[in-house]
Amino acid sequence: MHKITSHLLAAIVLLTGISVAAAQEVKRGIEQVTGDVYRFQNRFHYAIFVVTDAGIVVTDPINADAVKWLKAELAKRFNKPVTHMILSHHHGDHATGGEEWGSIEVVAHENTKKHVAAGKVQTAMPTTTFADKHTLSVGNKTFELTYLGVGHGDDLIAMVVRPENVAFVVDAVSPKRLPWRDFPNTDIDGMINQIKMIESLEFDVLAPGHSVIGTKKDATDVRVYIEELKAGVKDALAAGKSVEDIIASDLASNYKDWAGYDSLRELNIRGMARWLKESGQAK
Ligand SMILES: [Zn+2]
Repeated sequence: MHKITSHLLAAIVLLTGISVAAAQEVKRGIEQVTGDVYRFQNRFHYAIFVVTDAGIVVTDPINADAVKWLKAELAKRFNKPVTHMILSHHHGDHATGGEEWGSIEVVAHENTKKHVAAGKVQTAMPTTTFADKHTLSVGNKTFELTYLGVGHGDDLIAMVVRPENVAFVVDAVSPKRLPWRDFPNTDIDGMINQIKMIESLEFDVLAPGHSVIGTKKDATDVRVYIEELKAGVKDALAAGKSVEDIIASDLASNYKDWAGYDSLRELNIRGMARWLKESGQAK
C-alpha cells in the first residue's frame, strides 16, 4: 500500500545523509496483544500469532521476506515449532509467502483454496478448508473461524482466539482509519454485512490487519462511517449533484481525526459513487 516515492526518498536521503538502503528498510516488529497473542508488523500490514503449549499458530504471512524474519524471531523468543497457519483471505498483500513456513497445517476458507489453486496468490496450499464455521484446538488455545460472506472479496474470515478473546480481522475493519482507497474488489453492502457479522462475535480485543488495535466498538464505528457515506453519496446523486460536488461538500467531515482522512476521503466518495451506480442504486 503506502509507497515512498523516489522523490520523497531522495529528499530523505539528502536531508539525513542516510543511505537509500537504510531508508528502504522495512519496518517490522512484534508486540504482545494480550496473554499469548502477539501482533507482527511488516510495514503497514499486521498479522497475529499465538503461542500455545503445543506450538505456535501463525496467521497471514504477508510475504516471503516477512516470514523469514518472523521465523528467526520466533526461534529466538519461543523455541517452539510453528504448527499451523490460518489465512484471513487470499489477497496478495496479506497471503503471499506462506510456503516459506515449510510443511505445516494451513487452514483457510474453501474459496481461498480455489484462489490459491488458480494462481491468484503465491502461497502455501490450504490443507484444511471450511464453508461457514470451523473451530480449531491447538494445545491450550481455541481458534473460532467464521466466514464473513461476500463483501471485501469472497473468502474473508474472522478468527477469535480463546481464552484471550482476541479477534483477528483483516481489511473489513481498520480501527479509526478510513476504508482503503475506492473500495477495490468490494461489494459495499456485503462489506457492511461482514462488519455486522464481526460485531455479532464475542470478543474483547480487535487486532486488525491494518491500523491500531481496538475493540468491537471500532467495528461498529467503521460500519456507521460506511453507512453514512453510502446514504450521503446516494442522496446527493439523487439530488442531481456530481461526484465533484460531493467531494467539495462537508460529507464525512466529522471523521477528520481518523487516519487517512486527507488522502482517502475523496477516493472513498468516488468508490462509493461508482459502486452505487454499478449496483443500480444510483444513476
Ligand atoms: Zn483484502
